Amino acid sequence: MALIDVGRVRQETAGVERVAHLNNAGSALPPRRVVDTVVEHLRLEEQIGGYEAASAQSERIEHTYDALARLLGAGRDDIAVVENATRAWDMAFYSLPWTAGDRVLTARAEYASNAIAFLQTARRHGIHVDVVPDDEHGRLDVDALRSMIDDRVRLIAITHVPTQGGLVNPAADIGEVARQAGVLYLLDACQSVGQMPLDVAEIGCDLLSGTGRKFLRGPRGTGFLYCSPRIREQLEPPFLDLHAATWTSPDTYRIRSDARRFENWETSLAGKIGLGVAVDYALDLGLEAIEERVTRLAAALRARLRDLPGVQLHDRGLRQCAIVTFTVDGHDSQDIARALRAEGINVSVSVADSARWDFEPRALTSVVRASVHYYNTDAEIGRLISALPAPAPGRALG
Ligand SMILES: *Cc1c(COP(=O)(O)O)cnc(C)c1O
Repeated sequence: MALIDVGRVRQETAGVERVAHLNNAGSALPPRRVVDTVVEHLRLEEQIGGYEAASAQSERIEHTYDALARLLGAGRDDIAVVENATRAWDMAFYSLPWTAGDRVLTARAEYASNAIAFLQTARRHGIHVDVVPDDEHGRLDVDALRSMIDDRVRLIAITHVPTQGGLVNPAADIGEVARQAGVLYLLDACQSVGQMPLDVAEIGCDLLSGTGRKFLRGPRGTGFLYCSPRIREQLEPPFLDLHAATWTSPDTYRIRSDARRFENWETSLAGKIGLGVAVDYALDLGLEAIEERVTRLAAALRARLRDLPGVQLHDRGLRQCAIVTFTVDGHDSQDIARALRAEGINVSVSVADSARWDFEPRALTSVVRASVHYYNTDAEIGRLISALPAPAPGRALG
C-alpha cells in the first residue's frame, strides 16, 4: 500500500490555503481537478450548447459509471447516478412493494431522512419499523438482528457510518444475516464511501446509496445508487420518466433493465463528470491508504481531546472512523463551532433531531463534529485543540 503524499494532495486542494477544513462529513474540499472539470463542462455548454456539450463529452459522462462500479466492486449497469444520496436511498426504499404487517429492521444510528421515510411508510402502508439494539460497543448487535428475523421482515436497512459519530456498523456481518434469511439489504454508505474500501459482494448488500460531496470530494448535488442485478427487475421505481422507461406504444411503456431505471432525465452533467473525476482521484490514492490516514488522524484528534479537561468524546463503535464528536462542559456546541469558524477552522454540529434513536437514549442534545480527511494535518488538529474554549462549570449546554 503506497502512503498518501500529503504535500501533493494539499497542493492539489486549493481550499487548504484558506481553512483548516474539518467538516469532511459535511462536504469535503474538492481537488482542483474536480472543480476544473465541472467548470470546463459548464464553459462548453456556454459555448456550444448543453445537448451538444453532452454529446461531445459522452465518454466522460459514461466513465463515471465505470469509476463508481470499480469503487464498489460492481458492474457498470448496477449504478444509477442521481442528485444526492437521499434520493438514491429513497428510489430504492420506495420501490419496495409494501404491504401491511411487513417489517423493516434498522439500527439506532439510522439517518434522520431514512427514519422519516420509515415512519411515513408505516403510516401509509402499516409496516412495522423495528430498531435493533446496540451491542456493548454501540454497534448494531448482529445476534439481536438475527434473533429478530421472521417471515414478515422485508428489509434490513442500515446506516454504515452515521452522520453523528465515528461508529462503523458491521456491514458485512449484517450482510451475512440478510443472505441467510433471504431478506433484502439496503446500506446507507453515505459517510463510509470515500473514506474506506467498500465492496458490495463482500458486504453482501443488495442496494447501497452514497453521495458525491462528502468523503469522495466530488461536486455537490451528486449521489448514486448501487442495485444488484439479482433484484433489479423486481424493483419498480416510484417515479418513471422517459429516461427510466420507454413509451413503447400509445398504451404501454417498458422500464429500463439497468440501474438507470432509478435515474431521471435531466441532471447536472458537469456534476456527473466531476463525480467520476473525484472517484478516479480516490481510486488513484487507494482506499486502503485513505482509510489508514483518516483513521490515524481521527485517533490522534481523539487522543488530544481526551487529554483536555472538561471535554467529552461521544464516538461509539469498536472500529472508529474519520468522524470525531465531542462536547465541552459549560459550552453550547453551536457556539464552539461558530468560534472555530471565526478562526478559520471548519467543524459542524450534530443535533438530536437528526439522530433521535441514537442521541435520546444517551441524553445528548448536540455535539461538535470534527471530521478529518487525508489532506488534513497534525498541525490543523493542533489548531483545533488550541482554539477550543476552556471548560466552564456544568455539563455541555444543548
Ligand atoms: C449526508 C447523509 C445522507 C444524505 O446525503 P445527501 O447527499 O445529503 O442526500 C444520508 N445518510 C447519511 C448517513 C449521511 O450522513
